[in-house]
Amino acid sequence: MLEHDVVIVGGGLAGCRAALEIVRTDPSINLAMVAKTHPIRSHSVAAQGGIAATLKNVDDQDSWEAHAFDTVKGSDYLADQDAVELLTREAPEVVIDLEHLGVLFSRLEDGRVAQRAFGGHSHKRTCYAADKTGHAILHELYNNILQYGVSVYDEWYALRLILEDNQAKGVVMYRLLDGELQVLRAKAVMFATGGYGRVFNTTSNDFASTGDGLSLAAMEGVPLEDMEFVQFHPTGLYPAGVLISEAVRGEGAYLINSQGDRFMAAYAPKQMELAPRDITSRAITTEIRASRGIQLDGQAGGPFVHLDLRHMGREKIMSRVPFCWEEAHRLAGVDAVHQPIPVRPTVHYSMGGIPVNIEGQVRSGAEGLIDNFFAAGECACVSVHGANRLGSNSLLECVVYGRRTGATIARYVQNQKLPEVDEQQYLQAAKDRLQKLLDQSGEYRIDQIRQQLQDCMAEHCGVFRTDEIITEGLTQFKALRDQYPQIRLDDPGKVWNTELIEALELQSLMVVGEVIMTGALQRRESRGAHSREDFPGRDDQNFLQHTLAYYSPAGIDLQYMPVTITLFEPQERKY
Ligand SMILES: Cc1cc2nc3c(=O)[nH]c(=O)nc-3n(C[C@H](O)[C@H](O)[C@H](O)COP(=O)(O)OP(=O)(O)OC[C@H]3O[C@@H](n4cnc5c(N)ncnc54)[C@H](O)[C@@H]3O)c2cc1C
Repeated sequence: MLEHDVVIVGGGLAGCRAALEIVRTDPSINLAMVAKTHPIRSHSVAAQGGIAATLKNVDDQDSWEAHAFDTVKGSDYLADQDAVELLTREAPEVVIDLEHLGVLFSRLEDGRVAQRAFGGHSHKRTCYAADKTGHAILHELYNNILQYGVSVYDEWYALRLILEDNQAKGVVMYRLLDGELQVLRAKAVMFATGGYGRVFNTTSNDFASTGDGLSLAAMEGVPLEDMEFVQFHPTGLYPAGVLISEAVRGEGAYLINSQGDRFMAAYAPKQMELAPRDITSRAITTEIRASRGIQLDGQAGGPFVHLDLRHMGREKIMSRVPFCWEEAHRLAGVDAVHQPIPVRPTVHYSMGGIPVNIEGQVRSGAEGLIDNFFAAGECACVSVHGANRLGSNSLLECVVYGRRTGATIARYVQNQKLPEVDEQQYLQAAKDRLQKLLDQSGEYRIDQIRQQLQDCMAEHCGVFRTDEIITEGLTQFKALRDQYPQIRLDDPGKVWNTELIEALELQSLMVVGEVIMTGALQRRESRGAHSREDFPGRDDQNFLQHTLAYYSPAGIDLQYMPVTITLFEPQERKY
């Protein structure tokens, strides 16, 4: 059995920042990082637009209070305000710390870190490295932790969380290279496993964003919080769905419909293209539904709208958003200096996740914690984003709460002993599970079921939802789930059996998808990214609370948890 003081599952921004904090605090802590990709291939590396912090380099009227207010208003008042206060107060410090670690931020003429406008933010506060911010930060963090001798298990897949008697004890993991199984026990287990964009058919997320951490936790009885809030990013490139960063609108691009109008004037007259993402995604979807979308031949009635950068000029496009230009050119054959980019909403971010307190400790319910279990980043819900995240607040969350959780863990493990784990029992259970999958001789293929499941989620739990549509979706979804025991794999081997991993990931998609739909069905109101056409208003009386979903194969039990309101009383949200 492998033994470490701490195991972090996930090598993205949240995992790496937590790791750095742990080894910086106490270099004698024996730390393992497990990741199914190489850490620098985590989805964080694809983050584009930037990281928010009130450095006041461009706008000296900015303040953490303004950042906190924008975040809470953006969240449609569902964010926990104590968590938002920490996020926004600590932001300048963590960004300067990143700069000291070596992150190459873009600069102003006078050499200070540059800052740009972003949706829902009332001041220019987003720091960036052109439109490759995640790349710049993740590489530098990873370089830094390597210097401390962290044990990195890259391309190992965590397939089970060991949780007994309300105590996390470790993970069971599988090496992609040769199929080796191992039990790893630790005094503290942290999940930083990222999001679940792949539950849907059109997403900006990478192929590894399958919600494994959420599913592993849920299968051991850990609740998942606010999972019905799925962020649709307004500007996914049509048809691929990859992201065209909000930075493009932050730098001045327009959204245009088939009539040539900047239609955001009808939806958010003050903020226009820089309204928050939920509002902008609904606006685009409404335009497309009303036949004011555009077709590939330029006619009206098509499935996308235009993102027009032409007035920005070549120099600004190539210096501020070069990667977006390249993506549009490579994947859609569009030269954005001369042509508008076809865009439509794409699934982008998970507001919900594994519930944690502001120290990163996982909650067992509205009251109470799970021993030795921590989470941060996109897989966690602390909740700073509530019902809708503002752009450039997620990288910030990974860094602020990665650091806080790392600090908590470094203190926590000082008085802990390694837990008792029955290694053989866990190894045998994992072996049996994998062998069963390999032996199945059913009629279904993984990609068939996955595609149907992703289509079902997109159709039945999209930008606009109703009772009828979600109920029908859940029925279809359960029928697909019942086909899982009849999937057939082609590869019986041990070496790089990616098909086996896809089968495990499909199970994650199924658990997460069902939790999302069940939460969405029960939340009979419209708040942030969750928009119910049959309940169009926000209902603070009944639903100003967090959903906690307890998964079991027999069904999902929903409970609710109060929202922490300390700074700003809920008001109507207008932009
Ligand atoms: C295209 C794109 C652009 C974005 N741009 C921005 C931006 O400009 N600003 C911003 O604030 N936010 C942005 N976001 C959101 C932000 O990048 C993410 O929310 C954040 O990076 C998530 O980091 P993380 O550390 O939580 O997870 P990730 O970076 O997703 O890392 C997850 C890790 O978990 C590992 N893992 C998962 N499952 C398993 C398993 N079963 N076993 C072992 N390992 C596992 C993976 O290998 C990986 O190492 C963007 C997102 C996308 C998709």
